[in-house]
Amino acid sequence: MSRILVCDPIDDEGIRMLKDAGFEVDYNPSITAAELKQVIKDYDAVVVRSRTKITREIIEAGSRLRAIGRAGVGLDNIDLEAAKERGIKVVNAPESLTQSVVELVIGFMVALSRYMCNADKSMKEGKWLKTQYLGNELYGKTLGIVGFGRIGRGVARVARAIGMKIVAYDVVPIDENIKQELGVEQKSLDDLLKESDFVTLHVPGGPSTYHLIDLQKLKLMKPTSFIINTSRGNVIKEDDLVYAIKNRIIAGAALDVFEVEPPTNKELFSLERVILTPHIGGETAEAQRLAAVLTVQRLMEALRA
Ligand code: NAD
Repeated sequence: MSRILVCDPIDDEGIRMLKDAGFEVDYNPSITAAELKQVIKDYDAVVVRSRTKITREIIEAGSRLRAIGRAGVGLDNIDLEAAKERGIKVVNAPESLTQSVVELVIGFMVALSRYMCNADKSMKEGKWLKTQYLGNELYGKTLGIVGFGRIGRGVARVARAIGMKIVAYDVVPIDENIKQELGVEQKSLDDLLKESDFVTLHVPGGPSTYHLIDLQKLKLMKPTSFIINTSRGNVIKEDDLVYAIKNRIIAGAALDVFEVEPPTNKELFSLERVILTPHIGGETAEAQRLAAVLTVQRLMEALRA
């Protein structure tokens, strides 16, 4: 019988599926790196989220290891090269968090344009500042989507229903049918930045998008515009963003991801129209259940192949 070690907290549904399929499952969501290195030799597969690192050392100690499941999107915590060398299959569920991130982005847009966090804070300080929070509707505004993949397209669908105009930038040409369906115009990054009232980033991390948005790019944006980042922290040069907001080059930002997590750039905390969340894009019960279910399904297929 194949033995599977689940190293991080995943939705119960994933564990139940593995047990129902006859796998022997050990659930140790707080296992340390040293403990994992000791026990990995007894398992055919491991399932992780982002806490556990499956390093070359772990892979080399896993003499029985045939598959690694990452219940989520990024594979940054798995040494893919080492896994490939040993013929170990790596599976994940990149689509599982899409809807949750889309909804967070829409929430950010509403919250930014209606001073929602500032209004909430002032109410809790005993103030009633009704006339200080004259906001704007999203209807009729231009949304610039940078990276028109799963999440970018999902945001476009909802934003279009709200009545926003959508422009998008991507390194690949956007399919004509999708453009028509979503009423999207593909633009250069500079044109998108110049035209948009909201810019939302949905590119992958890595060298090709590192500091894609720096001061030079932020200066192209309107002084009334906002930028939202739920992709990867280093897509925006954070010091430049702080400078741009302090100097009213743009109006504000909402950030779910940071160059260093938790963020070390304390200046971010003092900016008025900046909303910060601790990388919660995929932190919903639904997304976590889907991540567990899809990853486990793919892991079982990999083990049976
Ligand atoms: P995706 O792969 O479906 O889409 C990415 C898109 O970006 C693709 O269309 C690709 O062509 C485009 N792209 C790649 N390089 C580019 C570049 N240099 N310039 C412009 N476009 C480029 O990815 P996705 O599932 O939509 O995820 C988007 C981002 O969201 C990723 O960075 C992912 O890690 C992040 N994410 C964050 C959370 C969170 O919790 N905040 C959750 C899920 C995903």
